[in-house]
Amino acid sequence: MNSKTKISVCIQHPKTNTGYVVSVCCPKCITAIQTSLNSSDNEYEIIQFKDIHVLVKKGIPKQVVPVCNEANVNGIMKLVGTELSS
Ligand SMILES: [Zn+2]
Repeated sequence: MNSKTKISVCIQHPKTNTGYVVSVCCPKCITAIQTSLNSSDNEYEIIQFKDIHVLVKKGIPKQVVPVCNEANVNGIMKLVGTELSS
């Protein structure tokens, strides 16, 4: 996860049944995050902090993850210069 952020994608948080926009370097990282969330192994977690959601890796906050909708996805891509990956 140290490489440059290249893609933004909606990942599904099974606990809350909500999608969040995550920006990572490659599809491998997306798979790792999604797999971790699906299996609740606590490697990755999405926590609510006041009115924002944060992606946490092993207890360390990694990035703010907006709820997945078209406006937020477009906003994130503009902000960090990523491309949409499905
Ligand atoms: Zn990666």
